[in-house]
Amino acid sequence: MVEYKNTTFLWGVHSLAQINRTFPLILIVLCLLALFGCTDQNQNAPTEGQNLPFVTPSPETGPSDVAVIPETQPTVHYHAYDATVIPPGCVENGYTLYRCACGEEHTGNEVTAYGHKWSGWTVVSAPTEEKSGSRQRHCTVCLTTESESLDPLSHQHTYRLQITEPTCIEDGYTNYFCSCGSSYVSDHTKQLGHDWSQWETVTEPTCQNEGLRQRKCARCREEESEVLEKLQPPDISGKLTVLSFAEVVHRNETVSLTISGTPGVEYDIDVYYSSGESKAKGLENQIADTQGVVTWTWKIGGKTAFGTYQVVISGGGESQTVYFTVA
Ligand SMILES: [Zn+2]
Ligand SMILES: [Zn+2]
Ligand SMILES: [Zn+2]
Ligand SMILES: [Zn+2]
Repeated sequence: MVEYKNTTFLWGVHSLAQINRTFPLILIVLCLLALFGCTDQNQNAPTEGQNLPFVTPSPETGPSDVAVIPETQPTVHYHAYDATVIPPGCVENGYTLYRCACGEEHTGNEVTAYGHKWSGWTVVSAPTEEKSGSRQRHCTVCLTTESESLDPLSHQHTYRLQITEPTCIEDGYTNYFCSCGSSYVSDHTKQLGHDWSQWETVTEPTCQNEGLRQRKCARCREEESEVLEKLQPPDISGKLTVLSFAEVVHRNETVSLTISGTPGVEYDIDVYYSSGESKAKGLENQIADTQGVVTWTWKIGGKTAFGTYQVVISGGGESQTVYFTVA
């Protein structure tokens, strides 16, 4: 704190008699000052704007009353103040304290406090996700310090990855886990599908039995089997056809009729004369051989009437009609 002490300036008037005695003398001095331009008194006089001592009359009497104060009255006291300037601080307002020797004092010229001149913040402890931190600053003038808490950091997810690769039959994906419990699934990848080898025949199929073939996945060793259907017998079932037959025959002659049909199929031959169906030997049902061929051979009777006759061959759902003439 700096105090400014100003010189005391005091003048007092003690009695009327004193004025009477000194008046001529003052008059002479004033004349001399006017004459020589001396300004001693002006220099000492308080001027406006200067923070110099000043004099106020006591409340009871004004300056104009001075002349009428009776000689017997006690001495008139004019306050003469020491002015002490209390400068403002960071927090406290400044002011000027006026104090008279008589004990009277008052304040004035209040000046608003400057306020702290803060330094920048210094982080004392950095906040984490778990704990709050703190920071501090100080006043560069009065060194007052101020602390402030810093909020804990908001949680930033830190994910741990767990990758599930795709397989032949299942999609792949990635699991993301954070220590806070948050998790999600992403990065889906399509299943690969089996990486099949070529088919390998395990059992060849026949006409009687089914076969079997297998293949294997090169990645997961999955095996796949497939039945091979029975072989179809060679398709030799042709249309029933008469291969050879004499159109004109004679009595007592042995004739032959050969057909081509389906191997293994039973064929029937019916020869119709005017007397009815022939019962001749050699016209029995026959099973076609492996080539599908059947030959019937029979004898024309010696009494067979001349004429043209019908022969019907049937079997395997087919039938053929041919004619021959006995001449
Ligand atoms: Zn006083
Ligand atoms: Zn301060
Ligand atoms: Zn998290
Ligand atoms: Zn596979």
